[in-house]
Amino acid sequence: MRPTVARTIASIGLGANLGDAPTTLRRALDALGALPDTTLIATSPIYRSAPIDAGGPDYANAVALLRTALAPQALLAALQRIELAHGRDRPHRNAPRTLDLDLLLYGDECIATPTLTVPHPRMHERAFVLKPLADVAPAAVIPGRGAVSEWLARVADQRVERWSP
Ligand code: ATP
Ligand code: CA
Ligand code: CA
Repeated sequence: MRPTVARTIASIGLGANLGDAPTTLRRALDALGALPDTTLIATSPIYRSAPIDAGGPDYANAVALLRTALAPQALLAALQRIELAHGRDRPHRNAPRTLDLDLLLYGDECIATPTLTVPHPRMHERAFVLKPLADVAPAAVIPGRGAVSEWLARVADQRVERWSP
């Protein structure tokens, strides 16, 4: 019998604002579902949001919920591989990108290393993260900060709308 591996619910924020962004997000969701020791358990609708602190086209955003046995750092490395497979480069901070995958929550863990901070340190101030996260996990809590639903109510001024098909 295989040993039992602890599995954790992790949430991933997806963003894209170059090329056919909704198609990129759908492919990235497929790639998340194909990760080893991982099950894709929910995906939000795709939303449209204006870029923050940067120019360029609107972003397509979504959130995926995974059940995974990957450790947080291994999950981050897997996310970065999926970004690279979609042509991501990092010319400068907040640059337009074909695909951005952020590890938002990993169970109720708090992680602070030079390369990984969980909960994602800016998620609670971003409607384009909180809205799709509330769709897939309405009762989610950001460890150390509080309920997603409460933070979402505070960013009601940020424009986030459903991406029309
Ligand atoms: P923001 O973090 O404000 O959303 P960004 O997504 O544009 O900005 P990136 O250039 O994609 O930032 O990432 C910069 C670095 O952030 C990555 O190299 C990664 O090591 C680090 N990082 C730290 N915590 C996380 C996390 N929770 N999810 C993804 N990357 C993280
Ligand atoms: Ca990001
Ligand atoms: Ca990122």
